[in-house]
Amino acid sequence: MGKGRRLRQRRQTTADERLGEMLASYPFIVDPVTATRLGPDGLAALARNLWPQDCQTCGWALGADRATVAVSDLIVLASATLHHARCRKPQWETSGSMHSQQDLLSWTTQTFLLQAKADSTDDRPIFLVNPALEQTMLKCTATGWRSNTIDSYSSLGLTRSRLESLLATEPVPDISAHLDAEGITVRLDDTGQSWNTGCDGPTREAVKRLGGILLAVTTAFDPHDLRELGQFLTLIRAGEAAVGWVALAGTGPGPLSEQPLALPTALNTFVLHLNLNHAFVGELIAITDGALAPLDAQEWAQDAINLPASSLIGWRQTSNNLHTWHTIDSISAKRFILRKCEDGWQLIRVAGEINGKHGLDRDTARDWATRAARTNAKTRIINWLPTNSNDDVSITFHGSGIPR
Ligand SMILES: [Zn+2]
Repeated sequence: MGKGRRLRQRRQTTADERLGEMLASYPFIVDPVTATRLGPDGLAALARNLWPQDCQTCGWALGADRATVAVSDLIVLASATLHHARCRKPQWETSGSMHSQQDLLSWTTQTFLLQAKADSTDDRPIFLVNPALEQTMLKCTATGWRSNTIDSYSSLGLTRSRLESLLATEPVPDISAHLDAEGITVRLDDTGQSWNTGCDGPTREAVKRLGGILLAVTTAFDPHDLRELGQFLTLIRAGEAAVGWVALAGTGPGPLSEQPLALPTALNTFVLHLNLNHAFVGELIAITDGALAPLDAQEWAQDAINLPASSLIGWRQTSNNLHTWHTIDSISAKRFILRKCEDGWQLIRVAGEINGKHGLDRDTARDWATRAARTNAKTRIINWLPTNSNDDVSITFHGSGIPR
């Protein structure tokens, strides 16, 4: 064996060892192909840009167990997504199609005010958003695969020019901001993608005074973790956010709440039901004739759920309500409720449930249900209306929601 070859072999071992050590403490499970293609630097970048919120196969929370990374290799670009180990094994796949279902991706956002010392016209209200917690795009470069989700936002006119970009005042075209009573919505006109969040106090005043807000898009930080402005400035200094000034297009209702009724096919109906010892909210997925006997209604629901009967645990009567049954899909852990009400038999896919005394009044119940629909059913509820079938011990609301 020549000296050169021995040296190469030794270097190889060292690199493999480094990779092995890294994988042992890596926050996600990756397969050997992905680990080798990305190398230690690529893996470190991947870990910085992926946030384990919801599984991109089943849509439910990833929880505390290590998630798997599935990469879809599209030759020049690749997408890396997070999944439950039980839903998808870790793999690098050259399939030509993406795994990610865009409607399962989570985003988080936060508004705050960066105050200038000298002059309030230099104050910067900031709209910080992570548009894709569980997915990052990778780009094949001469030196290997690099994370590049932010590049696609750069192409919209946002820049990564470090701290100077914070002083931008020239509005980015085709991105608009809308301020309304609920908060602020930022919308990308080309893709229709939009994000909304609360916007109060001095931040709101600055948005009004300056006629816009500074949009900062990053995948290397979760805006909900923002505790101090230094975290934001570190992100900007590292060039890990794309930034641009977005002009306020109006102070009326945002584009989402303006025209929900123009898109009736995109609206879902939700049911929120409360009695003293039970509260649940979920999407109404089917409704049928109330004259059916319970066993027939269960058979109908089984078909409507469209999952193999073997994966459902069977229908169980809810202890405090003779007209309500529930079941669970043992694979996805999704829960379903079948209940007889004035309208007929309703089949509901549960987004949130409290068994036992819940202490929710009408207002806090609606807030709770709105959050549950948003987190677990990826739907933004526009309004809740009480139904006619309410009495002293129970109340039911129907909600309309826009899938996001
Ligand atoms: Zn899953």
